[in-house]
Amino acid sequence: MKIVIVGAGIGGLSVYHALKKHLSEASPPVTVQVCESHASPSSTTSTIGGGLGLAPNGLYSLSLLSPSFTEYIEARAFSGAIVTMRNSTGGLLGRFWNGTKARYGFAQAMLPRDVLHEALLQDLPEDAVKWGAKVTEVRERENGVEVVFEDGTVESADLVIGADGVRSIVRRALFGDNYPATYDGFTGIGGFVPVAALPQTLQASLSVDPVTMSFGPRGFFGYARADGEAPPRRLMWWSTYEAAAPPDRTTPIATIRTQLLARHAAWRSPYDSPQARVFETLIASGCDAGEANVDAGQGLLVLPRYVTPTLPSWCSPSGRVMLLGDAAHAMPPDSGQGASCAIEDAVTIGLFLQHYHLSERFDVTESLRRTAKAYEELRIGRVGKIIEMAKRRGQQKKVQTWWQEKVRDWIMWILCKLPESINDERFAYKVDKEVVSYIISQSAQP
Ligand SMILES: Cc1cc2nc3c(=O)[nH]c(=O)nc-3n(C[C@H](O)[C@H](O)[C@H](O)COP(=O)(O)OP(=O)(O)OC[C@H]3O[C@@H](n4cnc5c(N)ncnc54)[C@H](O)[C@@H]3O)c2cc1C
Repeated sequence: MKIVIVGAGIGGLSVYHALKKHLSEASPPVTVQVCESHASPSSTTSTIGGGLGLAPNGLYSLSLLSPSFTEYIEARAFSGAIVTMRNSTGGLLGRFWNGTKARYGFAQAMLPRDVLHEALLQDLPEDAVKWGAKVTEVRERENGVEVVFEDGTVESADLVIGADGVRSIVRRALFGDNYPATYDGFTGIGGFVPVAALPQTLQASLSVDPVTMSFGPRGFFGYARADGEAPPRRLMWWSTYEAAAPPDRTTPIATIRTQLLARHAAWRSPYDSPQARVFETLIASGCDAGEANVDAGQGLLVLPRYVTPTLPSWCSPSGRVMLLGDAAHAMPPDSGQGASCAIEDAVTIGLFLQHYHLSERFDVTESLRRTAKAYEELRIGRVGKIIEMAKRRGQQKKVQTWWQEKVRDWIMWILCKLPESINDERFAYKVDKEVVSYIISQSAQP
């Protein structure tokens, strides 16, 4: 069997590892090739800037691929198991549980996106990824799939996995142009600041409130430690706001700075000092750091948020074309689950293919058909629930009237009083056990 994966982001690299791990004993052997449009690992969308929260369920799934991946991350990330919630006057709304190691085996990891990517690039054979190989079309034929590249070359495969993100080309093989990525009405701006550049009061506060999310009348501002070092070296920060039309991603940093200050400079924090206010300082340091790194392609991230509309299916009926990660279900980032769900998808495909092709010994055609069916039945429901939660969370970042703000503060206050178990559905999910339960339930059917 020959498998081509389009995209070497979080989902593409994860499914590469899952397939290599679970199909290594296939005879004849299974070949797996990843094709990535970016020229090298250091230039992919996964490595350009940005901080990420990787949830316990994502880390668990990653550990199934290789414990060395989670060890790499845990050695570098900050464990942000508790989040401090404030309003824009600096009032404490509460602290909520965001995934502790004690309960889930892994704590929520706050990390630069490139650390996750580096972990997945570990132990990767040199020829596993064709860098600079942009796919322009995927065509399913009767007994296989053709992958067309920008340079005109065509490669054939038994299975093509579209891990090519929210603007997926592979998705077009299933639905044409019927399900384009859509702007969800919010934009995120973010980056990193060196902790040493921050005022002492703010630096000292990081031992009490290492992850803070503040909600105001016109958006949201969050900041968090981005490494496990002592003292911390970098903070990640991000501002999210409602904007009717997606902003121009080439807006100069000076303009962004003015806009951010207009939105957040009046916000207060208990860690403000007469010399330096927290939000003003973070915006100034963040924009300075962005300007300093702009030539390296790592300036500020300005990200109009695009999502994938709900798809009727994630696979072609034959199972020869499958989508995973953002190609199938790019969700509002408010879920904090996009990367984790992409990794869960990858593990699921690897385990089902192993089951049907190696354990049940179905031929390639039947293995792919069964894998696709099982993958969709197990994953679409779970991801759908997470997307609904993300949409509800996103509402808190909309422009609010005075009384809407009061209601929001009250809801947050209640949420912070709830026990950690409210996160179990998301964080305690064990993808391998779900696959086994599914297989048992299917074999019990007449
Ligand atoms: C602002 C923001 C904040 C986020 N925060 C979080 C968070 O805190 N926690 C979390 O879990 N998730 C978060 N997410 C979501 C998360 O980043 C995504 O869900 C995750 O990156 C999906 O991985 P993927 O591999 O499916 O897609 P991607 O990471 O987009 O990777 C797709 C890859 O495919 C390649 N590609 C695309 N087209 C082609 C082509 N035609 N040919 C060849 N290669 C191609 C791309 O270059 C890229 O490398 C956030 C997203 C955004 C926008």
